[in-house]
This record gives sequence, C-alpha cells and structure tokens, in this order.
Amino acid sequence: MKFHILTIVVLLLMSCGNDTKTKTTTTKSNQTEIPKKKVVTTEGASAVLELAGNDQMKFDKSELKVKAGQKVTLNFKHTGKMSKDVMGHNFVLLKQGTDLADFATKAVKAKDNDYIPAGDEVIVHTKVLGGGENTSITFDAPEKGTYDFICSFPGHYSMMKGKFIVE
Ligand code: ZN
Repeated sequence: MKFHILTIVVLLLMSCGNDTKTKTTTTKSNQTEIPKKKVVTTEGASAVLELAGNDQMKFDKSELKVKAGQKVTLNFKHTGKMSKDVMGHNFVLLKQGTDLADFATKAVKAKDNDYIPAGDEVIVHTKVLGGGENTSITFDAPEKGTYDFICSFPGHYSMMKGKFIVE
C-alpha cells in the first residue's frame, strides 16, 4: 500500500513539472508576428486573411485587420498532427461586449455544434479542424471596431484568442 501511494505522489510531482514546462514555452510569440503586415492583402473590396492553429494550442496571429465594408475571406488551417477530439481548433468571431469566459463555458456543452452554443454572440465561425485540415469562410466585415476572436474548443480560449480589427 505504501509503495502505491508513493508512486502516485511521484507521478503527481512529475505532471506538475510538466505543467510548468509547457507554461514557460508559451512566451516565444515574437517570431510569429512577422506576417502581420501581409494580413490585409488588398485595399479594395476584399481582404484575404490567413490564420493557423497548431498542436501547441496557439494561433499564429494575435491580430487580424480588415477595412469596413470589405468582403473577408479567412483561410484557416490546423498545422499540427493531433486529432480534432484532442486538439480541435476553430475560429469564432464574437460580437463586442461578449464575456469570453461565459461564452467559453457555454461552448463546452455544444460539442455537437462545433462548440458553438446557442445565442447571438457569434458573428461568424469556422468548423472545428483537426491536424492537417483546413477550411475557408467568407463574410462581410462587421462595422468599424475591435472584436475578439477565439477558438471555442474546451479549454482553448485563454490561449487561443486575438483581436479582429475593422478600420
Ligand atoms: Zn483550439
């Protein structure tokens, strides 16, 4: 019996150690900022945005910018290898004033609907992708302002979120 308890304690300690490791590796975000300028590909009637999520539970951009009135095409891909049951990613653009924590809590219960809960907070969203998959959506840019976008897969929004800016 004693031996078993010890093993459990050791395992717990090990998993704690892993936790802090993953946390410290999440701060190297600077090299992913380069594509920012390429985000708005035209000044005209349409904009094409590229966004990716990975197995490290991160989007490759923290900011997307378009102009009011533009037709926006978002090409979204999952550059990782993990399945969508374990590391699924979607892109969810939320109306201003949406409480992210509250929305994410509701989203957890909406697995059958790509983690999009019933309600009117969502402006537009993609389906949930697994590693290697991609998708594309087209929508009209909302009115000028700053909006939040997140991945609504359970537990992801605190790391996978960014600003969608309409100028
Ligand atoms: Zn995700």
